[in-house]
Amino acid sequence: MSEHGKTPVTVLGLGAMGTALVEALLAAGHPVTAWNRTASRAEGVAAKGATVASTVTEALAANEIVIACLLDYDSVHEVLDPAAAGLAGRQLINLTNGTPGQAREMGAWAEELGADYLDGGIMAVPPMIGTPAAFIFYSGSGGVLGRARMALDTFGGVNYLGADPGLAPLYDLALLSGMYGNFIGVIQAYTLVGSAGVKASEFAPLLRGWMEAMNGFLDRSAEQIDSGDYTNDVVSNIAMQAAAFPNLAKAAAEQGVSAELLAPLQSLMDRRVAAGHGAEDLVGVIEILKK
Ligand code: NDP
Repeated sequence: MSEHGKTPVTVLGLGAMGTALVEALLAAGHPVTAWNRTASRAEGVAAKGATVASTVTEALAANEIVIACLLDYDSVHEVLDPAAAGLAGRQLINLTNGTPGQAREMGAWAEELGADYLDGGIMAVPPMIGTPAAFIFYSGSGGVLGRARMALDTFGGVNYLGADPGLAPLYDLALLSGMYGNFIGVIQAYTLVGSAGVKASEFAPLLRGWMEAMNGFLDRSAEQIDSGDYTNDVVSNIAMQAAAFPNLAKAAAEQGVSAELLAPLQSLMDRRVAAGHGAEDLVGVIEILKK
């Protein structure tokens, strides 16, 4: 604890996200020691009150709570491996984007070195950090979460998923899967109308309204998946959809644009219909994805 009762924290990585995390900590009065590979990137947070460590070893020695927010897990290892002896007795919180397997590997590695490990998946872009719109999935050591809680609260909401370090990246990547699926549809819609000279901003209100109207899929499909019954509450069966879906690609071809973002769904639908599930709902393709 600092003299003001605020937890001192070390932050490794001062990219866009690391800098936002440091700024949130400083704004809440937490003493921060920061390190970045490219030293010039630390000037901004130094001006706001952070202590800048010139080596990783120095940064690890400064505080018990250490947050890493680097590009990927390889860069976390590149940074921490040579200074690994300094991890003993540390509470390592890794907010770098990665996979469940990478998080579990890093948790076991940190534990062997005498550190407690908490993994995190940040569900926000840097300007959202420190606002109520931001939240972070955490999983791994509940003890680390407890000790660092005051500092972590400065970033946004805390959503702790359990002791398995792989859960935070799993949930993070599941939300990103949903997001990218949406983005794919939006990009394809703009591509198609754009091929006829329609401005994206003109079409945007129609697209927004339509996507909002189709939102019921999210909860309806969740119920069908949990019950395993894809015949329940079917509003448009998959046989009908599989027959109409090729028109999306044909229209794109006629208009001289690509439909490659959508192509994989056609094959899933066709296989599901061929297997005798034509009367069911689209979400039944999950049975193929589950393998
Ligand atoms: P940036 O590209 O802005 O920063 C990358 C950081 O990683 C820099 O500090 C960079 O150091 C460091 N770095 C990269 N490679 C190495 C290496 N080999 N050795 C040492 N340091 C290295 O990324 P962000 O800050 O935006 O993202 C950080 C993490 O947060 C990522 O995992 C990202 O996926 C995640 N995230 C980002 C979001 C965003 O919207 N920005 C949203 C949610 C999560 P240097 O300055 O020396 O290059």
